[in-house]
Amino acid sequence: MSVVTKDYGKIRESNRMTGEQEKRSVYDDVVSQFNKAADIMKLDPGVRKILGTTMNEVIVHFPVKMDDGTIEVFTGYRVQHNNALGPFKGGLRYHPAVDIDEVRALATWMTWKSAIINIPFGGAKGGIQLDPSKYSFSELERITRRFTYALGNTIGPDYDIPAPDVNTNPQIMAWILDTYQSMMPAFERQRCLGVVTGKPIESGGSVGRDKATGQGVVFLIREWAKDHKFDLSTATYMVQGFGNVGSWSARLLKPLGSQLIAVEDVSGAIANPDGIDPDDLVQYTKAKGGLVKGYPKAKKISHEEFLRTKADIFIPAALENQITAETAPLLNIRLVAEGANGPTDPDGDAILMKRGIDVLPDILCNSGGVIVSYFEWLQNKRSEFWELQEVDCKLYKKIVSGYQRVKDVAQKYKVNWRTAAYIVALMRLEKVYKERGIFP
Ligand code: NAD
Repeated sequence: MSVVTKDYGKIRESNRMTGEQEKRSVYDDVVSQFNKAADIMKLDPGVRKILGTTMNEVIVHFPVKMDDGTIEVFTGYRVQHNNALGPFKGGLRYHPAVDIDEVRALATWMTWKSAIINIPFGGAKGGIQLDPSKYSFSELERITRRFTYALGNTIGPDYDIPAPDVNTNPQIMAWILDTYQSMMPAFERQRCLGVVTGKPIESGGSVGRDKATGQGVVFLIREWAKDHKFDLSTATYMVQGFGNVGSWSARLLKPLGSQLIAVEDVSGAIANPDGIDPDDLVQYTKAKGGLVKGYPKAKKISHEEFLRTKADIFIPAALENQITAETAPLLNIRLVAEGANGPTDPDGDAILMKRGIDVLPDILCNSGGVIVSYFEWLQNKRSEFWELQEVDCKLYKKIVSGYQRVKDVAQKYKVNWRTAAYIVALMRLEKVYKERGIFP
């Protein structure tokens, strides 16, 4: 029985990647995963009501002047799911498919993520519904600044802290920081450095933040390999999405001896059974607008051929709903390490489980990004700059302790790792609500 009372039943018109009709929204999937875990761990009914809905939802429509002098009006979102454990925290996405339903789902996942790895943040997410490739650099700057202005005090260094997500990057964070600081009285400005994380290093960013999500994915693949006595030095892997998360995961697996054999991004899929050098592919994509299309040292393959590739590890690092009832039966792999948020829907999950394919679930597997964002925020608060070795070492400890907690709960409750990850998060949040009670 669902306790979520809001009408979240909006039907997503099509799957962005396959064009197929789809009846369930991403948020419906979040609710179904949440309810499953809440039933198993017998979550307190009151806490269930609180966590089953979002706290605040802000939608802003704001005008921006284009390079040719015309005006466009954009729609931006910020959803704050929960802040029982600390300030709201979560990325900003620039994509045509951003809508309130997707942002609710992404915000909710952020709450679970911080709770699993035990950092003092809550969950939020936001974005603008637009295709950034259609706008010039200076238009993107004005869009970002005006969005920040429209959000006003919805964000803040001790209240809600955005970070990069799909199609946003350190440059966009620098514009947000500068705009936010400009809206503050002069004596408050230095205190505001932590209003966003994932900033350029010179503007208060942390070393290691750029690669943090991919680094976390690779740390966890290593833990999984240790537990399964699996030799990564002879393993093969495939990556969907070759942006921040996908390219860093691919590059950081390479030194372990594993071989990248297929890559897919928005421009299409490529494969080479003899191996693709991820560092070389990064150089190529940098020169080609970020896209893998046309890479001369691999052959072009179809989406279906990509999914059917025989490999040991699949790292989805693009968008939601990629592993579904239709695509899960095609996969020829041993492990899914979810770099993306929500790449597997509940039907896909059930099929993976039935087929004995292990899953490192998103809310654990891609938490490296928010962990190092937390380190960046701490450095900003203390006016410190940590060395890369210190950042990596602390990231390793945090993410592996999360892995251990999820593993223990999976064994205790005899559930798959996704449900176990939810249970770990819900247990922590339930404890906090029980200790503090509800005001008044
Ligand atoms: P990004 O914008 O850097 O890269 C996105 C990649 O996905 C690009 O290579 C793009 O071509 C590809 N892509 C887009 N549409 C696609 C399609 N239809 N088919 C195949 N590939 C497609 O974004 P990112 O920051 O790497 O984020 C990727 C995923 O990881 C998202 O789900 C995001 O929420 C999640 N994530 C990101 C971070 C982070 O620190 N950036 C942290 C945690 C989770």
